[in-house]
Amino acid sequence: MNLIAQRRSQQLKGWAKDLGFLGCGISASGFLEEEAPRLESWLKNGHHGKMTYMERYFDERLDTRKLVSGSQSVVSLLYNYFPQETLQAADVKIAKYAYGEDYHFVIKDKLKILLNTMEANWGKVDGRCFVDSAPILEKAWAAKSGLGWIGKNANLIQKQVGSFFFLAELIIDVALEQDGPTTEHCGTCTKCIDACPTEAIVQPHVVDGSKCISYFTIELKDSIPQSYKGQWSDWAFGCDICQDVCPWNRFAKSHDEGRFQPNETILSKSQKDWMQTTEEEFKKLTKGTPLERAKWSGMIKNIQHLRP
Ligand code: SF4
Ligand code: SF4
Repeated sequence: MNLIAQRRSQQLKGWAKDLGFLGCGISASGFLEEEAPRLESWLKNGHHGKMTYMERYFDERLDTRKLVSGSQSVVSLLYNYFPQETLQAADVKIAKYAYGEDYHFVIKDKLKILLNTMEANWGKVDGRCFVDSAPILEKAWAAKSGLGWIGKNANLIQKQVGSFFFLAELIIDVALEQDGPTTEHCGTCTKCIDACPTEAIVQPHVVDGSKCISYFTIELKDSIPQSYKGQWSDWAFGCDICQDVCPWNRFAKSHDEGRFQPNETILSKSQKDWMQTTEEEFKKLTKGTPLERAKWSGMIKNIQHLRP
């Protein structure tokens, strides 16, 4: 056992905990052999819909050494976003992850602190930080590093906290002690598959992204196909259904991240309020939040889809 790698891994996990991360797991940077056929078949079946960016960087997506040359370790991190209470207007639902400030900013700031702390203690560290921002199979890395298992709803689940957390990674040129995968605990449960209103979970662990409400309300720039009219109730930005029904989320504990405090002005808006919101008001209201990404035209499209 390399004692330096072991000591550094322990230090890193301690710093991550101090910064508020729920979990930190480590794997050696390399090729995700088991994921290669899964990704290939997912793309071949068109489950990425119009997310054509998923077709690019196929090799880098599967091999972190190609993504960050010279990298030795992939550090996966979890950051809780489970709110104290579910907030929603009478006829508009917004996914919980989007209640507060955009997580990219919040988590990137913490990853930078973590990198700086490593450098201050270990000397020069070459690496990159990722938060949902690069071709990296985040859930696969987190599972390989023992942070949970990939449930039938394709989310990473941890027994103690459920699945309402963000994933982030540091890919660095420092050798660290590796963690191994954990066990799977979905058993015979099929609650997520049964509850999905668009039948997007086409088989256990496989979500057809092109049928998912999150895709329709966040990713898709075109109008939502009429055939989906009335299939989901009130979800105007994202969808939490397959996580809300998951028994493991009984164990979710609320976050204490001030920057994720719910934006009550956004969350109290009804369909009628959104339809009356001008583009300028929308920009002001959603600046620095995940909803900014949908843009005014996207949000109006989503609300129009909900209305009779
Ligand atoms: S997020 Fe919603 S639409 Fe997508 S798979 Fe889960 S339940 Fe289905
Ligand atoms: S709802 Fe059941 S099957 Fe689906 S992810 Fe949770 S435990 Fe697994």
